[in-house]
Amino acid sequence: MPRIAVVGGGIAGVTLAWRLCESIRGTAVHLYTGEPYRRADASAASGGLTRAFEPDPDLCMEAAASLAELQSDPVLQAWASYRETGSVYLMPALGRDTAELVDAVRSRIPGSVELLDAGRLTARGAFRDLPEGSVAVVERRAGYVSPNALRDKLLVELARSGVFVVDGRIETVTREGEVHPVGGPPARFDVVVVAAGAWTRTLLARTGLPDGGLRTKTIQYVLTPSGPGGPGAFVDETTGLYGRPYADGRMLLGLPTDRWDVPPGAAVADPALTTRILDTARARIGHGPPGGKGGGGAEVTAVAAVECYHATGALSLRPLAQGIYTFTGGSGGAGKTVLAASRTAARSLVRTLR
Ligand SMILES: Cc1cc2nc3c(=O)[nH]c(=O)nc-3n(C[C@H](O)[C@H](O)[C@H](O)COP(=O)(O)OP(=O)(O)OC[C@H]3O[C@@H](n4cnc5c(N)ncnc54)[C@H](O)[C@@H]3O)c2cc1C
Repeated sequence: MPRIAVVGGGIAGVTLAWRLCESIRGTAVHLYTGEPYRRADASAASGGLTRAFEPDPDLCMEAAASLAELQSDPVLQAWASYRETGSVYLMPALGRDTAELVDAVRSRIPGSVELLDAGRLTARGAFRDLPEGSVAVVERRAGYVSPNALRDKLLVELARSGVFVVDGRIETVTREGEVHPVGGPPARFDVVVVAAGAWTRTLLARTGLPDGGLRTKTIQYVLTPSGPGGPGAFVDETTGLYGRPYADGRMLLGLPTDRWDVPPGAAVADPALTTRILDTARARIGHGPPGGKGGGGAEVTAVAAVECYHATGALSLRPLAQGIYTFTGGSGGAGKTVLAASRTAARSLVRTLR
């Protein structure tokens, strides 16, 4: 029986190990989660916005397949703490490609999707002052998940399936498939998949392995003390603002950052960005906490974490050397694509082992 090591206890590594168990005996799989796996990783910080539509066709197909699986499986929904709030994806204009993607989503998730122009979206009350010509993909059957909760449930399932789950950090991975845990004996594997998110690059560099073009970037959002509840989960490409309802009536709101190549675990919230997020939310969805411009009230909490990016924007399996792969590069969106991406990756790995 070939032996596979998955390095990384975020949603990518854990879900991949879980998929592998569907095809091969659990005891052939070792999962090294890091030390401890609950550290400030992207899966713990994730906003979890989940929908089928994405403007990139490949990502859209993965997101739609992931959401379709989630919706067909009540157990998975419970594990992932899925909340169906609906989703709005607002764009400056409707391209022909976008219309085709919407049709593709319609066929995957029937009865969920409609296209609305700015006027009709504004009439529904959640958004204001939308640019002329803008258009929204509105999904009824979408919302948000907790990648952190799903990871925790899957770890329990993995232990039950006989997978060796090791709560320890890997110091190095060699070209020959040797994995060296910190303070433990090395182990040799037929396949090693490095799914260590933002830590992947540093880990590979220690043994001179290439990283295939991975970078890191900070993602930042704020949690406001109360929310209008109106838009459900949303992305507004015309401003960059995204958000969703959060627990206890609060709202999660964010804007993209341009803070690239940040060391993992070293993300710091930028107060100026917090102010911009609150100002943009006030202008676009009429929501902002009391306390004047910027709303710098004590109850606004800023969250920042480092994520691993790849030029394709996709979480996918990438070969680096004979038997050595990465499975990372979620680029701020793997919460919604991980179910399909992990299935594809596991199938492809199992094929190489036959
Ligand atoms: C703030 C934020 C908000 C986000 N919001 C959304 C969203 O709304 N919707 C969406 O779809 N996506 C979202 N994402 C993206 C999504 O959450 C990530 O793509 C996904 O969680 C990445 O998972 P991962 O397993 O690749 O990485 P991580 O979750 O970072 O996991 C990497 C793991 O590797 C482990 N590790 C590191 N070094 C080692 C080592 N040497 N040995 C062993 N283990 C190691 C770490 O302990 C960690 O557990 C967001 C991301 C962030 C940061």
